[in-house]
Amino acid sequence: MLNPTVIAIPVFALLIAVEAYLVIRENRENFDRKDTWSNIFIGFMSVVWGALFGLVTSLIYLWAYELAPYKIPMNVLWAWVILLFVDDFAYYWFHRISHEVRFFWNFHVVHHSSNQYNLSVAVRQSWFSGIAHWVFYLPIAFLGFPLWAFATMHGLNLIYQFWIHTKLVGKLGFLEKILNTPSHHRVHHGVNNQYLDKNYAGIFIIWDKIFGTFVEEIETPRYGIITPLTTYNPLRINTHSWAEMFVMIRQKKGLRDKVRCVFGSPNMDF
Ligand SMILES: [Zn+2]
Repeated sequence: MLNPTVIAIPVFALLIAVEAYLVIRENRENFDRKDTWSNIFIGFMSVVWGALFGLVTSLIYLWAYELAPYKIPMNVLWAWVILLFVDDFAYYWFHRISHEVRFFWNFHVVHHSSNQYNLSVAVRQSWFSGIAHWVFYLPIAFLGFPLWAFATMHGLNLIYQFWIHTKLVGKLGFLEKILNTPSHHRVHHGVNNQYLDKNYAGIFIIWDKIFGTFVEEIETPRYGIITPLTTYNPLRINTHSWAEMFVMIRQKKGLRDKVRCVFGSPNMDF
């Protein structure tokens, strides 16, 4: 079974090139060539690593699906509509917890540590997140959605999220009310105070509105992480947050504080 995101790679590559051309044509200074190549390499390797982890996590999913008391038939439209929302809801919580818990942030920080914002940042994904992120999707298996249907829908969700990583698209009127858009997602990547830990949505921005994490884009966002990362080295980009966490753990005396280094907020200072 081929993941839809893998099929989309040539389209991603073309759109990254077109956007880069438009940005460079306007002002060469606005484009960090090294960062873009680093993002593309990290994205390529994340597909390779993702496939390896996927072999194991697919087995876990299949095990959970076997335990599901009711198996949902995928030959009816309502099943796909429900799966669209269930998968997007699971994504919201996966994404929110990836920002709120240090252990999960150590993976997700890879996606946020670029100091620019363009389509290449969309593919800058952690190499190792496959170790942990399946946990958030296990309930979908217990609900009785077969693996092939989940993988298809989840792939489509990730494909949707590609195009929102751009500064070239402004506000989109009525769509801003329902969908996650470039404007909403620029806020998510902003490190301006009012934008921190906001707009976690995948496809539908409604989850942020329901759970109180929605903020409108007003001020121009500044991109990157709070302490800007200065390296283009893909391995360091994937591992620096782990290294910082282990230093913190070593510095803390009590067990309670050591545990908080792993499961507390990545922004905490104690
Ligand atoms: Zn994020």
